[in-house]
Amino acid sequence: MASAPFRFDNSWSRELQGFHVPWQPAKVAAPRLVFFNRALAEELGLDAGAFEGEAGAALFGGNAVPEGAEPLAQAYAGHQFGGFSPQLGDGRQVLLGEVLDVQGRRRDIAFKGSGRTPFSRGGDGKAALGPMLREVLIGEAMHAPGIPTTRALAVAATGEPVRREKVLPGAVLTRVAASHLRVGTFQFYAARQEREKLEQLADYTIARHDPDLAGTEGRWLALLRRVTERQAALIAQWMNVGFIHGVMNTDNMTISGETIDYGPCAFMEAYDPQAVFSSIDHGGRYAYGNQPVIAQWNLARLAETLLPLMVGDGGDEAANRAVAEATAVLESFTTLFEEALLRGQRAKLGLQAAHGDDAALVKDWLALLETQGVDFTLAWRRLADAAAGDASSLEALFADPAPLGAWLARWQARCASDTASSADERAARMRRASPRIIPRNHRVEEALEAASDRGDFGPFEKLLDAVRAPYEEKPANAPYAEPAPAAVTACYQTF
Ligand code: AMP
Ligand code: MG
Ligand code: MG
Repeated sequence: MASAPFRFDNSWSRELQGFHVPWQPAKVAAPRLVFFNRALAEELGLDAGAFEGEAGAALFGGNAVPEGAEPLAQAYAGHQFGGFSPQLGDGRQVLLGEVLDVQGRRRDIAFKGSGRTPFSRGGDGKAALGPMLREVLIGEAMHAPGIPTTRALAVAATGEPVRREKVLPGAVLTRVAASHLRVGTFQFYAARQEREKLEQLADYTIARHDPDLAGTEGRWLALLRRVTERQAALIAQWMNVGFIHGVMNTDNMTISGETIDYGPCAFMEAYDPQAVFSSIDHGGRYAYGNQPVIAQWNLARLAETLLPLMVGDGGDEAANRAVAEATAVLESFTTLFEEALLRGQRAKLGLQAAHGDDAALVKDWLALLETQGVDFTLAWRRLADAAAGDASSLEALFADPAPLGAWLARWQARCASDTASSADERAARMRRASPRIIPRNHRVEEALEAASDRGDFGPFEKLLDAVRAPYEEKPANAPYAEPAPAAVTACYQTF
């Protein structure tokens, strides 16, 4: 390859010896670049020209490891559906290295689906094209409204079959993340009682994500507080767009506060707090409405790993104090989350000032949606039409619009008491707070099926364009705003 496409600066490889296994991506039969994220490449300060043609395919397929990369597989543990696995690790991923983006932020560049590693256990280390394209779509859909997320830089089809329930085309995804530090990374060393490594990991984490805490006394507790704040803000944003992650295991929860690992995730259609799409989530542990409680549970697992550092060499007194302090931080999650949620909901209601009755107003609105099984995204979006003076499009979503009328009267009175703004201004603000377009499950399936079964990337590209402009009223986006036909929704499963 002529030029060095990435300017790597690999702090993990340099500073965290013994936290990973150096590991090369597997070579693949016939790599072909099927997706490249130009906007993200620009953000990373990459020269997109270096990725064109065969060079790009060879690089993103794993056949030509770029200059400066130090590929490695990271160790981590995790609670999966509540049960602890002391060793998971990158079973089908390698971290190539890190780059500093144009704003100076450190970003991981990693391959997913690049072959077996020492952490693969029974798995083949591979990924199928469909799920990697899903990761592209959902990541871009989350990024568009500003929800922190890992993102896809590229997808290369490998030209190799991957054996799942049926034989599928294989692919390698290149993922960009603020880091791949997970709650499960801390759990790996805590479970082994490797106190020094845990401290080294925590200090690395602080230097990377919360550098203002570096070297301070009480930094372990402060780190827990920061992660708690980031996760509370993140989950609130998920809830306000109807996102269901689907597999909130502790190895799938980041320290950075980015959403990671788009497996059996989905966006909710009809509002239902119990909504679950993943067929492996039998108990509904990761249902839409459970996500805040699960996040808090995961944070408690992080707190457990940090407690030995917080206690230090202190005796019982230090231990009691550390437990009390960590508990207080964990308890603060509820308030942080509820405040962030309500801030978002207020914006969606078109309100600027806070009022004590706002939470009740939202609760009653959501109860209306739930009782009548109304589409979450459309209902919020069409509330803006009501703000502009025409409630008919909103009413059309309700089988029985009578209870909606009473609620609208309350909301309109509340709007009248809010900071002065014209109806059109309010409606415009609301349309910036509630997306018109989400990656609806039937559209995602249709796009993945066309690409995976027929090599037709047209539907994928059109859907990608639509989800990247979620607030716009472009005519081309109209079909993507529509919910799935009822028969399709009823039996939808992601996994
Ligand atoms: P996930 O459920 O995707 O978060 O993955 C949980 C664990 O399984 C991680 O350690 C993954 O690296 C590993 N894993 C998932 N799929 C595969 C695969 N096809 N081959 C090897 N390891 C895998
Ligand atoms: Mg994972
Ligand atoms: Mg996964």
